[in-house]
Amino acid sequence: MKENLEFKNTREMYENMPPDKRPNDILIEGKSIFEQPKTPAQIEVIKTAFRLVTNRLKKLRIENKPFDDKRIAFLPQRFFMNSGEYHDGDFFAVDESSEANLGTIVHELIHAQSSEWRNYDESEVEEYLNENNKSVKSGFHRHTNFKTINEGITEKIAREIINENPDEYERLKPLFAGRMEEMIEKRQKEFQENILPRKIKEIEEDVEIEKQHIKELQERDAKQIIELNNEIEKEENEEIKRRLIEFRDQQLERNPENIKYYSDVILRNIESRVDTAKEINELKIKGIQDDYSFSPQNMTSYDFNVEIVGTLIEGIAKKNKRNNESLKLDSGKEKVWEDLQKAYFTGNTMYLREVDEAFGKGFLRQLDQLHQLLSEKEQKDFIKEMKNKIGSI
Ligand SMILES: [Zn+2]
Repeated sequence: MKENLEFKNTREMYENMPPDKRPNDILIEGKSIFEQPKTPAQIEVIKTAFRLVTNRLKKLRIENKPFDDKRIAFLPQRFFMNSGEYHDGDFFAVDESSEANLGTIVHELIHAQSSEWRNYDESEVEEYLNENNKSVKSGFHRHTNFKTINEGITEKIAREIINENPDEYERLKPLFAGRMEEMIEKRQKEFQENILPRKIKEIEEDVEIEKQHIKELQERDAKQIIELNNEIEKEENEEIKRRLIEFRDQQLERNPENIKYYSDVILRNIESRVDTAKEINELKIKGIQDDYSFSPQNMTSYDFNVEIVGTLIEGIAKKNKRNNESLKLDSGKEKVWEDLQKAYFTGNTMYLREVDEAFGKGFLRQLDQLHQLLSEKEQKDFIKEMKNKIGSI
């Protein structure tokens, strides 16, 4: 049974989906995920991405599985946080304004080809996914395990594929003539009609809360002055009385200043949130322009993860050379990267033991539990720590 469910974005859709439903059971603008319309240019991008990923698999001597392009859905911009999103099992949602981002589509297709369900015929996939709802393994990744490494490998392969095939970009570019302007216009409309009004409403609610808070502070101050006045009236010791009066007068002067300072800071913060929203929108538009410019230089997501994978390869190659002096380090790295990809596409998690052998027992676990949202400094420190470990192999 198909249901029309309301949701603000794809994340909410995944989270709020009833357990007996699959994404395809949900209708978006009257059509299920699998029935979302595609333009000829979008179909050509999927075909191109599939061919490129298949070529990589051939090089690795891994059999590829067919991929039904119904499993990629281009959805309206308003649903998205990221340009492409891979749903646990069965489909990829791509922001329609990222349709020209071959790198994103290649990245998502690599997830698909490394997923367990690639081992099943299209007719069996639904059944398989229903039985294994939300725990389908993709690469080394099940649930949240090995997410960091998994995304790093996925993105590293995608970047290599894109850099090796600049001609594909030239070929695809004319298919999207006029689309950039169309997508930017849509985005601006979405921003003006939905995103900005929502932000302003949110800010107005916060202003109300702050106003209430300021009122409470003023009441507290007034109460304090009344209490001080009472004390002054009752006080018989002249010296203490004099000091109390001095203190009260100070408070009478300071209290309004404090409140003014506080409300100024709050107000400035609140105003800056509108600016931030506008800046984010500008960045988004810049991203759309980049995508339609078809430059391979635009692949910058998962930088940290890609760097981790590169450092892992270096460490494992060095460990192998330590165990076998006749190996060359450079060709060793190529071999390690090949083995790592093979293990990733076939879900052979055992291969990751190599990580502990190179970096010390427990490192793989540390990597597994690594939080995705580290600060830039924490990321740098982590890579530095990895390089230090390599130094002592
Ligand atoms: Zn990914």
